[in-house]
Amino acid sequence: MEILVCVKRVPDTAENEIEVNRDGTDIERDDLVYSVNEWDNYAVEEAIQIRDRVGGTVTVVSVGDEESEEILRREMAMGADKGVLLSDAAFEGSDGRGVAAILKAEAEKGHYDLILTGALADDGAGEVGGMLAAMLDRPYASLVNHIEVEKGQPTIKVGREIEGGNQEMNEIDLPCVLSIQTGINEPRYVGIRGIRKVASLDIPVHGAADLGIAPEQVGAAAALVKRRDYFVPDLGAGAEILEGSTEEVIDKLINILKAQGGLK
Ligand SMILES: Cc1cc2nc3c(=O)[nH]c(=O)nc-3n(C[C@H](O)[C@H](O)[C@H](O)COP(=O)(O)OP(=O)(O)OC[C@H]3O[C@@H](n4cnc5c(N)ncnc54)[C@H](O)[C@@H]3O)c2cc1C
Repeated sequence: MEILVCVKRVPDTAENEIEVNRDGTDIERDDLVYSVNEWDNYAVEEAIQIRDRVGGTVTVVSVGDEESEEILRREMAMGADKGVLLSDAAFEGSDGRGVAAILKAEAEKGHYDLILTGALADDGAGEVGGMLAAMLDRPYASLVNHIEVEKGQPTIKVGREIEGGNQEMNEIDLPCVLSIQTGINEPRYVGIRGIRKVASLDIPVHGAADLGIAPEQVGAAAALVKRRDYFVPDLGAGAEILEGSTEEVIDKLINILKAQGGLK
């Protein structure tokens, strides 16, 4: 089975204090520690497990600048067979539709049975997977937390997490696009030795011309959703932000819950 997994480089919220930048257009990105989007890491693990069961190839792809090569290499150290970086000045400032259009062009260069995205990434739109499926005219299932694949079958079974802790099982035709929910598996640990093993592997870079994308179709100028402001909302009446170390915040929270009768 040929599997393409879309991975995004995102700020690591466990490692950074996230602040809005001075002109209020984005977060302050200088000096942030980045890593692979958590949902995408689950998607790559799932792809590797499927490949190991039924054979095939796992390719990881990212739209980003040259720094995204690092996360592609990390996912290759995890077990992905190939990495492709989609990078071009024309791609900068794309909205979700632009990102999906770039991924679509790359997907059409291969013959992928299965395309996996994360359910959402750092901008939280949860839009790229669905848009990519629509652009490729392929069936799509979102928030997938279980996959059953049988070698040579034209369909696979996918489980979806739905409201109220309920679970849904679907049969979906191949080729298809799935967005993966966290918790579907236990992503394997990637050690320094694994990273070293893939350090010299070639990661091709495809730009707009390689993908047959006219620069005016993507990027900031083509974005149909334009970010106009970026801010931390004012505290609402009655809201209180607890300050202090984790232990202090926990103690304060317990006291508040006890005082409000929420904890005996
Ligand atoms: C400088 C800058 C300017 C921007 N301007 C705009 C703007 O004007 N309008 C606007 O709407 N957005 C803008 N964005 C946001 C950007 O386009 C989003 O990253 C994009 O819309 C995807 O949204 P998301 O992170 O919510 O992805 P989601 O749709 O939540 O992600 C779902 C999945 O899609 C895949 N995916 C998402 N992004 C990528 C990627 N880059 N490479 C590979 N796979 C990916 C991953 O598998 C991910 O798990 C801007 C971002 C930056 C950094």
